[in-house]
Amino acid sequence: MNLITTAPRGTKDILPKEAYKFSLVENAIKKIASSFGYREIRTPVFEHTSLFKRSVGEETDVVQKEMYTFKDKGERLLTLRPEGTACIARAILENGLHNSTLPLKLFYLYSCYRYEKPQAGRYREFNQFGIECFGAKSATADAEIICLANEILNKLNINDVVLNINSIGCPNCREKYFKALSDYLNDKKENLCEDCKTRLKTNPMRVLDCKKINCKKIIENAPIMLDFLCEDCSEHFKNVKQILNNLGIKYNIDGKIVRGLDYYTKTVFEFIYNKNQEPLTICGGGRYDGLTQQLGGPDLPSLGFAFGLERLINVLEENDYFKDKSYEDCKIFIAYADQIAKNKVFSLVKELRANGVYAECDLNDKSLKAQLKYANKINAVYSMVLGEEEIKSNIAKLKNMKTKQTIDINIDEYFFNKFLNIINSGEN
Ligand code: AMP
Repeated sequence: MNLITTAPRGTKDILPKEAYKFSLVENAIKKIASSFGYREIRTPVFEHTSLFKRSVGEETDVVQKEMYTFKDKGERLLTLRPEGTACIARAILENGLHNSTLPLKLFYLYSCYRYEKPQAGRYREFNQFGIECFGAKSATADAEIICLANEILNKLNINDVVLNINSIGCPNCREKYFKALSDYLNDKKENLCEDCKTRLKTNPMRVLDCKKINCKKIIENAPIMLDFLCEDCSEHFKNVKQILNNLGIKYNIDGKIVRGLDYYTKTVFEFIYNKNQEPLTICGGGRYDGLTQQLGGPDLPSLGFAFGLERLINVLEENDYFKDKSYEDCKIFIAYADQIAKNKVFSLVKELRANGVYAECDLNDKSLKAQLKYANKINAVYSMVLGEEEIKSNIAKLKNMKTKQTIDINIDEYFFNKFLNIINSGEN
């Protein structure tokens, strides 16, 4: 083959043998989110670039290096969404959803776009399942969303996961912390990478995200936000931990988690999967109390999290989750022995499908032998052949492809009910 092009780097085709796994997981997750009162929301795949600059933060890697930004024909500066929260906050404010009963609980299933170096579990186009809860300020809300993420992992039987939590305070307590952190980092400035030298001036907390070895070493002994929390943030974090304890949800406190996006405040958390490989964040989230105001809306204390679906599915594959959850096999293949039977075959198949049964027939003018070979190939559970005689007598032989046993069945107007009776009774 001489294809003129291939899929862009960092993207992948989700083929049928994988796509059904996405549907399966998405449906399972949706059901859990619904039981916590979350409703689906969908927003455009691109937004004005300013939305992400203002909310995610000018100094974050996402905004600085990873956004797919372009000008449209009307000279508007647009960006493919790199994450979901900012888009949803914009949508609820623009549509006035925050004026309804609060808290407003929303979930989304989105593709997101980040220009990152592609590697295992890291793509340029990836899918997130996220939840956002607007207008909930108490620690119970923090515990509830953590509980929801935890429930998803439990229902999907994922065990090798740890929950790390932290509090990164609010603008009030951050001032003192930024000073301490800047003092500490300034002392070691010479050994920081060029990016971190800039971050030190604009937002020293972003240095804590740096993955470069030298910077990571320096960060190890850096002061942590937990030691600088104001009374309100400290009390809030204490309450979150208390509720998690009451719910029996295990966690570690990791003072180094800051999350890669600027809008977070107070509680932040990550679920890390670490079985046989490098630890992998499969879910991350936290509180973002200032976001709606930052976007020009009212003060709405809010919070949320996102799962990376590709990562989640990789983990599920590793844990054999899909082993006995394959595609549905074709229930029945109906073949024709001659042209007279062709129309009848098609109308029986139509009737079965209208009743939700996965039925197939030939679409390629194949010989009878070739039709039955095909039925074998697609693992049809039953097969049936119609010819002149069957049409005349209204009776055909239904064959169980595994046991090779056959049973007579009427192909009149009650065919579907009879077929159902036979497969349910296990008669054949
Ligand atoms: P974030 O929006 O950065 O908090 O990411 C939330 C979740 O999305 C992460 O925990 C990952 O599971 C997933 N994720 C983030 N970036 C990528 C990527 N480039 N490729 C695949 N999954 C990703």
